[in-house]
Amino acid sequence: PRQTQIGLMSPEELAAEHELQSANYAMLQAAALTLDLTRGKPSPEQLALSSAMLSLPGDGDFRDGTGIDCRNYGGLHGLPELRAIFGELLGIGADNLIAGNNASLELMHDTIVYATLHGLPDSPRRWADEPVVKFLCPSPGYDRHFAITESLGFEMITVPMGPNGPDTRMIAELLAADPQIKGLWAVPNYSNPTGAVFSEEVVRELVSMPAAAPDFRLFWDNAYAVHPLTDTAAPVVDVLGLAAAAGNPHRPFVFASTSKITFAGSGVSFLGASTENLNWYLGHASKKSIGPDKINQLRHLRFFSDAAGVRAHMQKHRAILEPKFALVLRILEERLGSSKVASWTEPKGGYFVSLDVLEGTAARVIALAKDAGIALTAAGSAFPYKKDPEDKNIRIAPSFPALPELEQAMDGLATCVLLAATEKLQK
Ligand code: PMP
Repeated sequence: PRQTQIGLMSPEELAAEHELQSANYAMLQAAALTLDLTRGKPSPEQLALSSAMLSLPGDGDFRDGTGIDCRNYGGLHGLPELRAIFGELLGIGADNLIAGNNASLELMHDTIVYATLHGLPDSPRRWADEPVVKFLCPSPGYDRHFAITESLGFEMITVPMGPNGPDTRMIAELLAADPQIKGLWAVPNYSNPTGAVFSEEVVRELVSMPAAAPDFRLFWDNAYAVHPLTDTAAPVVDVLGLAAAAGNPHRPFVFASTSKITFAGSGVSFLGASTENLNWYLGHASKKSIGPDKINQLRHLRFFSDAAGVRAHMQKHRAILEPKFALVLRILEERLGSSKVASWTEPKGGYFVSLDVLEGTAARVIALAKDAGIALTAAGSAFPYKKDPEDKNIRIAPSFPALPELEQAMDGLATCVLLAATEKLQK
């Protein structure tokens, strides 16, 4: 029987496979596609789930339950009732959670910039006066996290990401020895892009391990806390409570938003932290703004009513997303399963599938796909400095395209993976 594992093929079989995939690729190019698998954007169908929000809170409704006039200035903490709802979902008391504008990325950025310009409450000096600031970056990870720390000139240290979270032994060693390490990026639930969920054990280790820097922080981006794709949602671990119990109450800054719940461009963001951290943050934020868009917060409050309302809404997203993820996994298995030149994650939630192709071919695969009209996130994007040390990782974002386009794009991508692998092995 013909060998299907590309790595085990005889030179003749490999040449035949290369010829076959070249022919497939020529057909792909002839189809002149324009498809996009780059960003984890909600599809128009998902956005439509929240269209009733466009007429909320409605003419005449502008006060929340505490009587705040949401049209006016003030209320830097955000609406208490909305903070209570998302606090319940995130396992954070409303007193320790503030609600902001549409982008949690802005909260992350500002927190780090304030630490740089002013120092944190427990900083020996502001980060700008440190000889170097270092961040631990579990990878593959989220490119926009790494972009923030790169833009400020921080040194980023890659830490391998596993199925239950990052390599805590490596983190513990680095953290205990180096006072310049001030932060760690983390997406604890359904991580971007691998879908990994940090185990409670990993969370316990991260909040309790000794750090040489007194002002070391976990940048705990729980962007996908309520985004399961299965019946049993991954638990949201009480990182603030565990940190406090471990004697490090100020270590986590928790971030979240409704970007993948309501409107990606017009949601509400959240920051959870110790009282001291929040007061520090608000002290600096109050120089920048008198208060967030409370009408939008009220709109969200009216739309959801309670935490159960959010969970029910997320089931509607799941119904749209689940077939897309299933399609991606089916095509990967059908086209690449037997070739053994690729492996991929099977996420139980979140927005991404992480595909590893034959080492040294990811950039080539992405270039081939681009020439065939299939846009993928740039090679190396999921690593600090955009440098994938093994040139093998590709992030797949299935949410935006409709099923027929997604199928074409994935099939085309599989052809590019096989073509690049046969090219490489023939050399
Ligand atoms: N964090 C993660 C892990 C994400 O994947 C994304 C969106 N792709 C964001 C944050 C962006 O969040 P926001 O829209 O609230 O800025």
